[in-house]
Amino acid sequence: MTEEKTSVLVIYTGGTIGMTKDSVTGALVPFDFSNIYEQMPVLKNFDYKIDFHSFETLIDSSNMKPSFWIRLAEIIEDNYEHYDGFVVLHGSDTMAYTASALSFMLENLNKPVIFTGSQLPMGVIRTDGRENFLTSIEIAAAKEESMAIVPEVAIYFENQLMRGNRTTKFNAERFNAFVSGNYPLLADVGVHIRFNKSNILKPNFKKLKVHTRLDFNVTILKLFPGISENIVKNTLAIPGLKALILETFGSGNAPTDEWFIGCLEEAIKGGLIIYNVTQCKSGSVELGKYATSLGLERIGVIGGFDITTESALSKLMYLIGEGYPKERVIELLQLPIRGEMTIE
Ligand code: ASP
Repeated sequence: MTEEKTSVLVIYTGGTIGMTKDSVTGALVPFDFSNIYEQMPVLKNFDYKIDFHSFETLIDSSNMKPSFWIRLAEIIEDNYEHYDGFVVLHGSDTMAYTASALSFMLENLNKPVIFTGSQLPMGVIRTDGRENFLTSIEIAAAKEESMAIVPEVAIYFENQLMRGNRTTKFNAERFNAFVSGNYPLLADVGVHIRFNKSNILKPNFKKLKVHTRLDFNVTILKLFPGISENIVKNTLAIPGLKALILETFGSGNAPTDEWFIGCLEEAIKGGLIIYNVTQCKSGSVELGKYATSLGLERIGVIGGFDITTESALSKLMYLIGEGYPKERVIELLQLPIRGEMTIE
């Protein structure tokens, strides 16, 4: 009996990677993936079955909405049993948000979901898209003893494989556009793909469970020197608001002004969850380390350790959407559930 070929489903959502120059007008237009084998004959050299699924409406990822995350999760769910791995072609601008969201929405993921994109369109001579795309396919297909080597949601960009919910886009021009400031790389890519297996989540062999009930009553307030009472009060007064990500300074620090702590305390008493996430790209929130975070700790602000804002946002949408009691949401916000934070 012949063994079945490893199979990869490539899901195209839009973004720069999928652009090419129109031969007549010279303008950038979406790449036609239906004849990808003609445009990229090198794909035939893979000994994998590679299929393509294109979103009906291709978007610049700045137009990404949670409804697209849900659609993406459903496409993966519908095809989960038929493929060994998935590659998602996505604009880089909001890729870290989508990868973070998908990590929470896809519980018990035992197959690779590799996001990639590019800074230069596929149809441009110096494109970074070609390498990102081909290597992502190889990573999505990589197996050891019949098991996927990377059974998690990851981002592959410019020779680096990163856990998706640990990433942030930090550069709008350089090919290495993403940083994973608090978690080591899942793989380094050069002549060889070197998987750092001890950093990769282990499969749990349970059945995939897809969560699509997200609650969008969450917002972000970034602190800055001189933030006014008006801004803080109006943010806290958003009708229906259930959770606020407070982007703090350094290791979770904030102004100690009475009006500031007082406003937050009142909101917490009224049922709002306030989640403290640092503005730094690396390092952790440590409530109580400085006097400037003692007040936050006292009034019941929840420390987010080293979680990224992107991850914190979708984790809150997911946990609240799942309808957990508030105490359980607060407990889970302080525990890694998809490898998104380090708590020691
Ligand atoms: N604006 C584009 C997008 O995020 C940039 C890119 O694809 O990298 O869709």
